[in-house]
Amino acid sequence: MKATVFHEHGTPDVLKYEDFPDPDVGMKKVLVDIKAVALNHLDLFVRRGIPGLKLEMPHILGSDIAGVVKEMGDGVSAGLEIGQKVVIDPGGSCGVCEYCVRGEESLCADYGILGEHYRGGYADFISVDAQNVIPVPEYSELDFNQAAAAPLTFMTAWRMLVPKARIKPGDSVLIIGIGGGVALAALQIAKIAGAQVIVTSSSDEKLEKALELGASIGVNHSNNPDFHKEVFSLTNRRGVDIVVDSVGEATWEKSLRSLTKGGRLVTCGATSGPKAMTNVNLVFWKQLEILGSTMGSRSELREVLKLVWNGKLKPIVDRVLPLSEAKQAHEILEKGEQFGKLVLNP
Ligand SMILES: [Zn+2]
Repeated sequence: MKATVFHEHGTPDVLKYEDFPDPDVGMKKVLVDIKAVALNHLDLFVRRGIPGLKLEMPHILGSDIAGVVKEMGDGVSAGLEIGQKVVIDPGGSCGVCEYCVRGEESLCADYGILGEHYRGGYADFISVDAQNVIPVPEYSELDFNQAAAAPLTFMTAWRMLVPKARIKPGDSVLIIGIGGGVALAALQIAKIAGAQVIVTSSSDEKLEKALELGASIGVNHSNNPDFHKEVFSLTNRRGVDIVVDSVGEATWEKSLRSLTKGGRLVTCGATSGPKAMTNVNLVFWKQLEILGSTMGSRSELREVLKLVWNGKLKPIVDRVLPLSEAKQAHEILEKGEQFGKLVLNP
C-alpha cells in the first residue's frame, strides 16, 4: 500500500509518500480501507517529537479515520459487515485496570492514541481492534471527509464541556481561539446545551464565521489583548461560567480573570506553551475550578457521535488534499490558516 510516513522527527519536509507493507488483519481485528483522514495539532507534535515518546520508525500519523470495512479477522462478533462505512475510535487502553473498568479509558496508564502511540491513518489501509470500529448509520448524510473530521475533536470538546465543566442551559461560555477543530466543536456543543457563547480570535474573518455558527459575540484578541476586560464589560461585570482554553501560557491568566465566581476553566492543551501563571488568590476567593481533560471515554465518543450522525453537530471541513500532499497540509495547520479541519484522501 501507499502511506505518508516519517523516518525521523522534524519539519514537514520529513513526511514522505512511499510504499509500506499492507497490514495483517489478525484476530479480533478489522481491516479498514481508508477513504479520509483528518489532521489534528497532535500530528504536528508527534512529527516534531514528544519528549518520552519512543516510536518505531517509520511512523505513520493520523488519528481521525473514515473508511469502509474491507476484511474481518477471526473472532470479530456481530455488528460489522464488509463494505460498511465506519469511523475509528482513536483511543486504545488495557481494558482491565480500575479506570478502564470504570469506563474512564482515557485515564488508563496504558492509554494510547492512534497515530501517536500506534501507527495511524495516513495510509491506504489500517488494521484496528474491532471494538474501535464504529459504524456510520445509513441515515447519516455525512461524506467520508466530514465523518473523518468528527471523532477526536467532538470527543475532546464533549468531555470538556459536558462531564467536566457540567455545562447547563443559560451558562455563558468563552472559547479562546476559534477556528481549530476542538474550539469549533465546543462552540456547537455549547449552543445545543443552551449556552451563550463568546469567542476570541486574532482574525476578524474567523470571528465572522463563528457568529454564523451561533456565537453571540466575537472578540479580536489582537486589537484587544486584554480580552478579559472586554468579557467583563460584555457580561455586566459578571464574567463567564466556563472558559475553554487550549492555548495555555499566552492566555491562561486572562482566561482565569474572565470567569465569574464559581466559574470553571477547562483545558485540553497548551499550544502556546505549558508554563502559565496562576494567581492562587483568584482561585480560592472566586472559588474557581481548573479542570484538565484529555480525549474522552469510549461511551462519551459514541454519545457525541449520535448528535453528529443526526446532523445536530456538524464537522467543519476547511479543505481536502490528497494524502501525497500531507506536507502542505502540515504547513497550513502550522500557520493556523484553517477554519475547521484539514482532511487527506489516500
Ligand atoms: Zn486500563
